[in-house]
Amino acid sequence: MGAKGMTEKLFYTDPKVFEWDAEVTGAAFHDGLWHVTLDKTAFYPEGGGQPCDLGTIAGKEVIHVMKKGEEVVHIVKEKPEGTRVHCQIDKIRRLVHTQHHSGQHLLAAVCLKMYGAKTLSIHLSMNSAAIELDVPALSDEQLENIEKEVNRLILSGRRIRIFYINRAEAGRYDLDEIPEGIERLRIVEIEGVEYNACGGTHVGSTSEIGPLKILKTERVRGHVRLHFICGIRLFEDYKEKLSLLADILEKLSTAQDTVLQKIEKIKKELKEKEQKYNALFDEYAELLTDRFIAEQKGPTAGKIFPDKTVKELSVISHKLLQKGMKAAVLGTILENKIILSQNGDLAIDCGKIIKQHAPAFSGKGGGTPVKAQAQFPDSEKLNEFFRFVTGHLGN
Ligand SMILES: [Zn+2]
Repeated sequence: MGAKGMTEKLFYTDPKVFEWDAEVTGAAFHDGLWHVTLDKTAFYPEGGGQPCDLGTIAGKEVIHVMKKGEEVVHIVKEKPEGTRVHCQIDKIRRLVHTQHHSGQHLLAAVCLKMYGAKTLSIHLSMNSAAIELDVPALSDEQLENIEKEVNRLILSGRRIRIFYINRAEAGRYDLDEIPEGIERLRIVEIEGVEYNACGGTHVGSTSEIGPLKILKTERVRGHVRLHFICGIRLFEDYKEKLSLLADILEKLSTAQDTVLQKIEKIKKELKEKEQKYNALFDEYAELLTDRFIAEQKGPTAGKIFPDKTVKELSVISHKLLQKGMKAAVLGTILENKIILSQNGDLAIDCGKIIKQHAPAFSGKGGGTPVKAQAQFPDSEKLNEFFRFVTGHLGN
């Protein structure tokens, strides 16, 4: 049993413990949750960029684990019964974090060694892992070289060794960062690669990290953020992608080696159909506008269509103006949009009318003096604005 106020940390002494019995040393109720302490625990508390372990204490679900001084505090919704309790941690979650954490050490070491890119921060979760580097960019070639070198080191099975030193001895190791206020330093050595002062959980050999894949980079605060996955998570991701690919192939009734050709073919057919449709719509718009103009009493054409796209309205309004109408106000319920256009004879500014008046009908938009467009939240507002504009222009 550990000293009072101190939890024996099994995740340090034996990282392969996933199930154990412990004595409850404390249980306090805070804000509707129980904060439970144990004499010994394998629950890794959140820290050093590594998320905490989850699992159960006497069958009660542990929702968070944190460090408080030398104690590990387990947060549970229900108080575990008894003083002697059986504990279990989610083995897969731990393994994913351990692989990502160890992979992150190796990736950071390789980025530094190959391109002088120092790791500024790390981000680990169940689904993703990333490091932020103090360089503005990395080329595709550099990324490929980094990935290749990391995987070479993984395959070569370098031993990962943990040992403790006194702070005074830190100078003997090429440590990047030495944690403040700690006398006894926990050193993680990746054989022939680097030394690190770290309190996280690690695999015993680089080969246990499993293959590592760089997913993408993004620019954050002028730095490169490198996203990667490895080990179990990489395998899970591969399974998800295979399943997604199988669904896509089934929907397209094709095979993997012909899927790109099939997509190109569908795109080409779609484009041809669109061109054909546009030509037909143009012919239809000719007839429609002839009939439309015959029904109009004044120089302004106004109508709300139930099913046209705004692109189609644009074709119709263009033809109306070509055929002698001075202005056109066309709306569509399908997209809750209105197009206002004029042939240039009228002393109005379509863009200004929309900008000034549409907001009073919860609409927004704008355009030029001869053509403008507005979007409304629903057909009711669209109708109200339509009545307003046609009234405003006079008919
Ligand atoms: Zn570490």
